[in-house]
Formats: sequence, structure tokens, C-alpha cells
Amino acid sequence: MKKIDVHAHTSMWSDAISGLKAPMASPDQLKENYKNLDIEKGFILPIVSPDCRGYVQSNEEMEYIATTHPDSFFWFCNVDPRMGDNTNQSDLSEIINYYKQRGAKGVGEVTANMYIDDPLMDNLFYHCSLCNMPVTIHMASKKYGGYGIVDDLGLPKLEKLLKKYPELKVLGHSQCFWNEIGDNVTEENRDGYVKGKVTEGTVVRLLRQYPNLYCDLSATSGYNALSRDEDFAYKFIEEFGDRLLYGTDLYYPQQETFLADWLDKSYENGCITKENYEKICRENAIKLFNLSI
Ligand SMILES: [Zn+2]
Repeated sequence: MKKIDVHAHTSMWSDAISGLKAPMASPDQLKENYKNLDIEKGFILPIVSPDCRGYVQSNEEMEYIATTHPDSFFWFCNVDPRMGDNTNQSDLSEIINYYKQRGAKGVGEVTANMYIDDPLMDNLFYHCSLCNMPVTIHMASKKYGGYGIVDDLGLPKLEKLLKKYPELKVLGHSQCFWNEIGDNVTEENRDGYVKGKVTEGTVVRLLRQYPNLYCDLSATSGYNALSRDEDFAYKFIEEFGDRLLYGTDLYYPQQETFLADWLDKSYENGCITKENYEKICRENAIKLFNLSI
């Protein structure tokens, strides 16, 4: 079945930035990859924060690409928490609602390298909740030397956020998020790809406790979390199939991803029900982002 990708990157300036570190795929290159992966349509997410980057993107670029390729892309807007007035009183709703009215379906991915409960970051989540916009977060283990919003081992600040804004739909993503599927994550391995059998960890507990937590399965982090212990993964999918969303995090031209194959094979082998397979591959995205497709 044709999939919907909830997480991808592209740039209309791919030629101009090709000399910089980490050049992105052009829209046509991303579409080529979508054809190979049998993806009907995907969400393109702008990276607006400068952390670890040689260039940043604009919301307008995403809107332009999505409106000129309406059969291939939806788009997210993104707001760095320092935008507006660079205070925790900034009316970020004004910005978010502006882009929402222009067609943005969510906010993210949030990559600013600040603590989740930094007053400015908290203000961003407050306004995402107010505007009823789902938010995708890239989680990191520390300040400096990386990108993404920072939480401690065991994700106590993410829990605080989920509790504080029960209406806010948060899509968790990245190694620091997914490694917490198991209980064998440590300060030393939380930035990597933790392997081995899974004994239920923080992510499982948070999913049970907080219905506003969703999981973005994109990138190697999502794939690793499922493929490291397949018996566990099938049970995990059975329990949380309503809140898992297929994604690629495609970024480079001709980048390889593994999750689509894994999901297809797991379904063909009878390890995932048809219902859950369809939910993960597209139905959850249609519902969460109110898509007409
Ligand atoms: Zn990404």
C-alpha cells in the first residue's frame, strides 16, 4: 500500500547549497526516492534553527515547494523558540496561526539545542497547544556539540511537558527518544543505536500514561527501535498501533532507508495485522493531520 511519510527534508536551493556541509535533496530527487519507496505523499519539515548547521531554511520555502508539488508534499512550519520577542511572553500563536492558515499541518521538527523546560521552549509548546498544531521534536542528550531539544536520561522533562499540555500532540523522534523504548539506555549509549532485547523502558510507560504522545518512526533511530528486538516490536505495535507513524527523515539525494521494507515484510509474514500496518503506513497520519487524500 502507498505510504505517507511524516518526516522528510528538501530544499529548492539544493544546487546553491551543494558546496556546503550536508546538502539536501531537491524536491525532484526526493520525489524520485518516494517513487522507489512507494510513498504517495510526504511532509516536508523546515530546519529553522542554526544549531550545527551551515544554512537554515524558511517556512516560505516549504510552502512554495508544497504548493508547486501538490501531489507529493504537505508541509510543516517551524518556529525557533527565540523568534517573536526572544522572551517567554512572545505571542508565537501569531506566527503559528499565520502559517496554519496558509496550509501548514504541524510544527517542527524542533531542533533548537535548549532544554525542553527552558522558559522560551515552554512558551513554544504552549502556543503549539493553543493553536492545536501537532509538534515533532528532535531530542538530544546535552547542550552544545549537537542539535535538538535536551532532556535528561529517562526523559523527565518530556513527561513534564506531556502532563502540562495534555491537548498538545507531541511526536517523539531521534536516538535520545527511541533508545528509551528499553531500560538498558545509559548516559554513554543514549546518543547511539542501542541494541539487544528490549525490556520495557520510559517510552512505553509514557505512551501508556499520556495519550498525547505519538511516535515518529523515521530515521535509523525509529527503525533500530523496532528491528533490535522483533518479538518486542510486534507487541509494541499491537499495543500502540494508533500512535505510531511511518516516516523516513530523507535528507540527502538517494539516501537509503530500511523501515518500509521491515514493515512490509512484517505484515506479509503475519506479524503485524492489516489494521495496524495500514494505520502506521498512512491512516494515523491522515487522522492526526486531518488530511484529505
Ligand atoms: Zn529530520
